[in-house]
Amino acid sequence: MIPKYTSLQEIQSALKSSSITLVTLTEYYLSRISESSNLNIYIEVYAEEALQKAAELDAKYAANPDTVGRLFGAVISLKDALCHENHGVTGGSKILTGFKSLFSGTAVQRCIDEDVIIIGRVNCDEFAMGSTTENPHYGATLNAADTTRVPGGSSGGSAVAVQADTCLVSLGTDTGGSVRQPAAFCGVIGMKPTYGRISRYGLLAYASSFDQLGTLSHSVEDAALFLEVMAGADEFDATCSTRPVPAYSQNISYPKKAKIAYFDTAVNHPSIDPAIRQATLDTIEKYRAAGHVVESVDFEYLDYIIPTYYVLTTAEASSNLSRYDGVRFGHRSAEAQTVEDVYLKSRTEGFGREVKKRIMLGTFVLSSGYYDAYYTKAQKIRRLIQQRTFDIFADYDFILMPVAPTPAWKIGEKSKDPVAMYLADIFTVQANMAGIPAIAFPVGETAEGLPIGLQLMGNKFCEGELMNFVKSN
Ligand code: GLN
Repeated sequence: MIPKYTSLQEIQSALKSSSITLVTLTEYYLSRISESSNLNIYIEVYAEEALQKAAELDAKYAANPDTVGRLFGAVISLKDALCHENHGVTGGSKILTGFKSLFSGTAVQRCIDEDVIIIGRVNCDEFAMGSTTENPHYGATLNAADTTRVPGGSSGGSAVAVQADTCLVSLGTDTGGSVRQPAAFCGVIGMKPTYGRISRYGLLAYASSFDQLGTLSHSVEDAALFLEVMAGADEFDATCSTRPVPAYSQNISYPKKAKIAYFDTAVNHPSIDPAIRQATLDTIEKYRAAGHVVESVDFEYLDYIIPTYYVLTTAEASSNLSRYDGVRFGHRSAEAQTVEDVYLKSRTEGFGREVKKRIMLGTFVLSSGYYDAYYTKAQKIRRLIQQRTFDIFADYDFILMPVAPTPAWKIGEKSKDPVAMYLADIFTVQANMAGIPAIAFPVGETAEGLPIGLQLMGNKFCEGELMNFVKSN
């Protein structure tokens, strides 16, 4: 009988004591995938390949335990937005139907090099545009805490994959909250590092100046170890930082007293659910009782965050998604007669409604005549938000925020009201806007048993501090 492991360390000691093998562990996760098939987590499961890799790694370990990589024992899933050589990747979109990646992205390759087992790829919002994982092509993924509710998104498949114990860790992407919000909705840890900490090479681009790869895991330890493996300079991504990578996984502790800011306007925001508000206030009290300083600071830009984010990300998306033209990858319309038809019909058939809407909005805000009024203006506001955020970090170590104003909502509940859906990103987008790291962690449940998550944001490249603090408090 395999217990529910919540960290790689537990798995590695079980492998060491021979109480499990990697093959039995992989079989266990595969059985969990079948048992939870109603949740619609996986787009594709690599059962045979995973078992074969497990057998190879068991043999490698038996021959000489010192030869296995740092992620030996980790069975993971990938959001369907991360390139994995010779495996399908579709960004959850029909437009990439049948497309197989010719290479593995840098972060994925670094995990493979450390002996990870990739068990499958999981559902997400189409091209990571959304907050619910109600995918128009692959269907909705369900929250394992309450199957009438969404798991959040866009890395919703990743969150449920971990929540339902179908793998140890899942890799996701976070452009405006897509790692942290599903983590909060599903009661797991979501780590979004500093922009540029992990290479974006092999991550299907949504909004390139916001996108960052992140992890969904049960434990802070696993978030730290995976970050340590994946982070660091990469010649294939010019925005990837060359800063040395700290040994995040060593000595995860925070012996100091922290100075933490929170925004009164967030805690008392009109959209906030009473249970989330209470959990935030309780956490503030808990931190104070532990000797940390927690103070309210003014942040006058909260209501500008969402409009600014949606102008800038749709602009970047309209440009990034122009590569899906029916010629180079994936779906090509069978109806097309002319070259223009190929573009028009392939894109009309291949993209879902939300993606089309965002491409059109992005094209509009970049069009001559509107560029200055929308795009340039939004860039200026982004700078103000960044500046104010960095000013806060001159005085404080962290900013504490709810992840989302509400717990997981019902499937279909917000689909008819896109503005309400967008507004639910109000607390997560700031970190992407400023390029800073943020970690979402569970703090309890609502009366109905729905997970509640809060997040801490830190200054650039302070992801180690964030993980240390969350682990110790
Ligand atoms: N919900 C946000 C959006 O729809 C965030 C998505 C993301 O981080 N990929 O853009």
